[in-house]
Amino acid sequence: MGRVPSNTMINLGIQSECEEAMYQLGLDIENLEDMEEDAGLGNGGLGRLAACFLDSMATLGLAAYGYGIRYEYAGGADDWLRYGNPWEKARPEFMKPVHFYGRVIDTPEGKKWVDTQVVYAMPYDNPIPGYGNNHVNTLRLWSAKSPVDFNLKFCCMDRNLAENISRVLYPNDNFFEGKELRLKQEYFMVAATLHDIVRRYKASKFGSRENVRQHFDHFPDKVAIQLNDTHPSLAIPELMRILIDEEHLEWDKAWDITTRTCAYTNHTVLPEALERWPVSMLESILPRHLQIIYHINFLFMEKVAKQYPGDFDRMRRMSLVEEDGEKRINMAHVSIVGSHAVNGVAAIHSEILKKDLFRDFYEFEPHKFQNKTNGITPRRWLLLCNPGLSDLIAEKIGDEWPVHLEQLVALKKWAKDPNFQRNVARVKQENKLKLAQILEKDYGIKVNPASMFDIQVKRIHEYKRQLLNCLHIITLYNRIKKDPTANFTPRTIMIGGKAAPGYYVAKQIIKLICAVANVVNNDPIVGDKLKVIFLENYRVTLAEKIMPAADLSEQISTAGTEASGTGNMKSC
Ligand SMILES: *Cc1c(COP(=O)(O)O)cnc(C)c1O
Repeated sequence: MGRVPSNTMINLGIQSECEEAMYQLGLDIENLEDMEEDAGLGNGGLGRLAACFLDSMATLGLAAYGYGIRYEYAGGADDWLRYGNPWEKARPEFMKPVHFYGRVIDTPEGKKWVDTQVVYAMPYDNPIPGYGNNHVNTLRLWSAKSPVDFNLKFCCMDRNLAENISRVLYPNDNFFEGKELRLKQEYFMVAATLHDIVRRYKASKFGSRENVRQHFDHFPDKVAIQLNDTHPSLAIPELMRILIDEEHLEWDKAWDITTRTCAYTNHTVLPEALERWPVSMLESILPRHLQIIYHINFLFMEKVAKQYPGDFDRMRRMSLVEEDGEKRINMAHVSIVGSHAVNGVAAIHSEILKKDLFRDFYEFEPHKFQNKTNGITPRRWLLLCNPGLSDLIAEKIGDEWPVHLEQLVALKKWAKDPNFQRNVARVKQENKLKLAQILEKDYGIKVNPASMFDIQVKRIHEYKRQLLNCLHIITLYNRIKKDPTANFTPRTIMIGGKAAPGYYVAKQIIKLICAVANVVNNDPIVGDKLKVIFLENYRVTLAEKIMPAADLSEQISTAGTEASGTGNMKSC
């Protein structure tokens, strides 16, 4: 999410009043802002996309909730909650029990999941204000809490084990690590969230009917659950479990409600990123969900067999259960089968899903597949982080553009106007100067603000090809050394991004960049022509400072590997 205050003041339209009030108190608002740690509750583009969606949905006045985990430690930085979080409000009245382990028994009333271990999910609400519309949505983050009067022997996990569930964010970007604690985190969030959604629905006039068999009829018309990748895909078997075991609906009715409620956004085609949970892990931690997934698969395989009689290879490919090697559940397959809509995040990516990754599923149910091209919120990524450019735009086309971005095409009229061009260039130069000052103050690095700022900031990953960028630096260096008098546009190349702690090659790439920087930056023959900087601790707040100062934004992944990319949209 990044920082709260500037975004809140902008969306509430009270920025100049706040700055003035602070000034009257002898305080500099920028100094205050710099004291805040980012809420870094995700790993990269996928999490930031969700944050941008929250801003946009509030701005459109949609009644939308964001749900997530209130990680105590995230982003590798220590302890962002150390001094408390003044923007959140604990809501103990909506605390939920979440069950793990246990076994399933048959009873006259149906299946029962018993002898479970319980962890409580405590919600913390974070306000998400819309831009200039008096509308505020909620981001509800769950924190794990062991029961107050817990009895170790009979009902509960060890207090520390229980509360470890929301302790730390798994730091991988685009990589699946099939760890038990991660599975528990995913189910913890899903179970607490669905409990919350069903409670809210049942409290409404639609859900409170006396007739038990009809009171969920309106559920899919009143509730839409958008799965942000497969990470919350247990929502599908969990909603089935609630409707069948707790609300006593028939399977077919529950399945109709579930598929009409859920939709799935795919964020990557990289095979190493796709979630495939070992059956053995689900069997022990979520035995009832495994049963439900097996039954979903049984019915699905019947339908596939009916459409393609004798095509056993296709059935094997489409199964939710992978049988080669260790038995695993393919969560993308669960998500497609359990949703009424499946989308990619860019036109080319959505085509790859249909033609390649999910080809069999597209052939089977083509109507489910669609595209939703990603975007970023122009409030944080232009109005907030680039006030100079925002003012120039407003001078020409007024101040409606932050909610009507299509109006920016009206700027075409001034594209060749020398005065406008000069002003845009001046703002860019001011932004570069400001970044140069920050780099000197925070990193102790001196850069030449007259040089081209060539930036590549994103998670360190082989597919993003920071290595290619590094080879380019070496090429430029060799060119200068070969002919020091040749014409050369001075460049400052900045590469920034976090490597997952367990991603050895990513760390080697960082080490190489730093080693190359060391040679290049200290060669007197190179002088001011070429400088290389590795930017540590890349995060939303640093992105807000870098993007407005970029002359060149590097987007150089191999074709088809970056599903969407949003870093590409942030510099202007
Ligand atoms: C936008 C953003 C990303 C995503 O960048 P890509 O270039 O699309 O990978 C990652 N991290 C932060 C902090 C961002 O703001």
